[in-house]
Amino acid sequence: MPKREPLKAIVIYDPNSNEYSISAHNQDAKEAHRVIKDWNTHPLAGCLLILLNQTERHRTDDPQACRTCRDAAAQSEALYPQARFVRRNVS
Ligand SMILES: [Zn+2]
Repeated sequence: MPKREPLKAIVIYDPNSNEYSISAHNQDAKEAHRVIKDWNTHPLAGCLLILLNQTERHRTDDPQACRTCRDAAAQSEALYPQARFVRRNVS
């Protein structure tokens, strides 16, 4: 039986404005890898792409409305303190 990999949440962080948004969550490793691979050509490629391991599947359908993602991102050391959440269409 294969070991279950943690699901990932994908956070897009702009260190210049100290703003972040949630691109996706509940991504398996393969899906997350595809996002990373294509990131160079993304319109927001100047921002940092941060992957967070989820401890469980998030129930919210819309990742931009997901409170769990926002809390996890806010606690991540990859973001400066008190980074501001913004909604963005980043898909
Ligand atoms: Zn989430």
